[in-house]
Amino acid sequence: MRKIAIMGAGQSGLHLAIRLVKSGYDVTIISERSAEEIFNGPPTGATYLFHDTLQLERELGLDFWNDTAYHSTGFNINFGKPDGNFAFGIKSRTSKPGVSIDQRLKFYQWIKLFERLGGKFVVSDTTPSDLLECTAQFDLVIVSSGKGPLARLFTKDEQRSTHEKPARKLVQLHINDFEQTEKTKFTSITLDALMGGGEIITAPFYQKDDIQCSFILVESIPGGPMDVFDDATTASELLAKAKEMMRTLMPWRYPAFANAEVIADNAFLKGSFTPVVRKPVVQLNSTAAVLGVGDTVILNDPIVGQGGNNASKMANVYAKAIIARGDKPFDVAWMNETFETFWEYSKYTNRFSDIFLAPAQPHVVEVLQAATENPEIASDFVNGFNHPPALFPWLDDAEEARKYLNSKTRTAEPVV
Ligand SMILES: Cc1cc2nc3c(=O)[nH]c(=O)nc-3n(C[C@H](O)[C@H](O)[C@H](O)COP(=O)(O)OP(=O)(O)OC[C@H]3O[C@@H](n4cnc5c(N)ncnc54)[C@H](O)[C@@H]3O)c2cc1C
Repeated sequence: MRKIAIMGAGQSGLHLAIRLVKSGYDVTIISERSAEEIFNGPPTGATYLFHDTLQLERELGLDFWNDTAYHSTGFNINFGKPDGNFAFGIKSRTSKPGVSIDQRLKFYQWIKLFERLGGKFVVSDTTPSDLLECTAQFDLVIVSSGKGPLARLFTKDEQRSTHEKPARKLVQLHINDFEQTEKTKFTSITLDALMGGGEIITAPFYQKDDIQCSFILVESIPGGPMDVFDDATTASELLAKAKEMMRTLMPWRYPAFANAEVIADNAFLKGSFTPVVRKPVVQLNSTAAVLGVGDTVILNDPIVGQGGNNASKMANVYAKAIIARGDKPFDVAWMNETFETFWEYSKYTNRFSDIFLAPAQPHVVEVLQAATENPEIASDFVNGFNHPPALFPWLDDAEEARKYLNSKTRTAEPVV
């Protein structure tokens, strides 16, 4: 039985580990924290997952919250002008629902499942020297430690990395009494963007203590009008600042938040990071190498919610490549090839994120404005979050956008 070691029990590592252990591999997860420490630890990114990712989780029996958590079946996207006046909005249903489950609860339950399936779970904070030792004991060592320090062992891919500094400052809160547009179990993700300021994203959030609340993620352009959170140190202070900012800069959204309250004063995230793509392999000596997965090697800003989706999809691609490899060695050429297979998909998720982090290009504004009037364009756009390659080439190129818009206008014409 081939022995695989996975460093880090998160979105990508657990997905990969459970897929492999179910396929008969001898899998060991080495995690810096126990399941209980993860459950009781600080919140992580809300990690809203779209349909295709949820389908991969369902295949593995990981969808424990399918019947309990509120799902979203649509988007409500609004754009405001720099002076705070409303510009235009898009409302559209997605063809299948998505959901956001607190990763602390998810990872805790998944670790327990992994152990029940026969996987080995070791608590240890992996250091670079442990990696070399592991390569002697395992057929393959995969690093899934997220954006933590181990990621720095992987060299930045200068050609594929498009940022030198954080594009946004992030604040995430868990709130109650946020007025949803539809008061049903199936509600919308809202995304409000202030041109030149940043974005506010909200969606239902199933919190680890089985509380159905909402998350609010504020993405502020550093130095811009939404960059107002530096002095706030508690969730209540952050929410007060967010409300005040919305009252003045996004007045169309303020009423929905007027009565919102944080569910706990320590339930928040505040910080920033630089999106990066890294080379997928670290060569430890002339014969030993390790392969990276998830945020360790492809780290995107959460503006269009792709990091966690990517992490699971990448784990799925890696698992298939491991199984297809049979008894052959997991050499560096195979590692690079496996990553490149996934990059063919991820280059679109990375570009999708970058298009929305950059000042809006005229053709993007044109497409989004057309979506306000043409339900087919709106549907194409919101369903693209689930599978970003479907948004290309038209979201990324003025000429292709024109062709795309013309084709949609033509199909809308009556046949005579
Ligand atoms: C504010 C915010 C909001 C987000 N919203 C979304 C969203 O809506 N949708 C979406 O798809 N994505 C979202 N993301 C991104 C998503 O959370 C990550 O992309 C995803 O969790 C990455 O999975 P991973 O397996 O690479 O890393 P993680 O899930 O971070 O797991 C890494 C694990 O490795 C462990 N570890 C670290 N170092 C070591 C070590 N040395 N030894 C052993 N273990 C170690 C950590 O404790 C952790 O458990 C968001 C991120 C942020 C910050």
